[in-house]
Amino acid sequence: MDEKKINNKIMRIIVGDITERNTDAIVNAANNYLKHGGGVAGAIVRKGGYIIQEESDRIGFVPTGSAAITSAGSLKTKYVIHAVGPKWGEGDEENKLKSAVLSSLRKAEEYQLKSISFPAISSGIYGCPKSMVAKILVTTVAEYLKSQSTSLETIEFCLFDEETYRYFKQEFDKI
Ligand code: ADP
Repeated sequence: MDEKKINNKIMRIIVGDITERNTDAIVNAANNYLKHGGGVAGAIVRKGGYIIQEESDRIGFVPTGSAAITSAGSLKTKYVIHAVGPKWGEGDEENKLKSAVLSSLRKAEEYQLKSISFPAISSGIYGCPKSMVAKILVTTVAEYLKSQSTSLETIEFCLFDEETYRYFKQEFDKI
């Protein structure tokens, strides 16, 4: 675990299972149709319950680089923010990833949330290099905390394995 204060807000990196986090919201690495099958999405629905998939089906399509919000079923968190990151190779991956993070932060803001936890969006099934994902996620959140007044007091990255954590730690130390 490591954390930094930016504008009196906390940015944190941890190794863990995001489905266990009790932040006000957790972010899901979703696809455009919000069909939560594998990876972190599958884990969220398995643990939180099918209500999350049902609410997602009512939302339907979410463009790449955007985010939508549902309740969180029986998870400890209150909301799941479904962010759609890019697939590696489709083009403009960095901007799309940045946009997915900012859309998630704006959703959290809309709901006046105090804390949010992000996974390493697009770095699993979607195949983006972990170094790029770490750089975009950490710099986007750091810039956000520097430049806005926000309801969010804690923004964390919950990384599933030590290797991903090390990539985030490298970027974190540059802030
Ligand atoms: P994408 O399709 O956007 O790549 P994935 O779910 O395949 O999404 O993976 C995104 C990241 O989430 C990967 O780094 C993967 O290791 C990680 N991940 C998978 N399950 C969990 C979990 N339960 N908690 C936190 N991170 C997870």
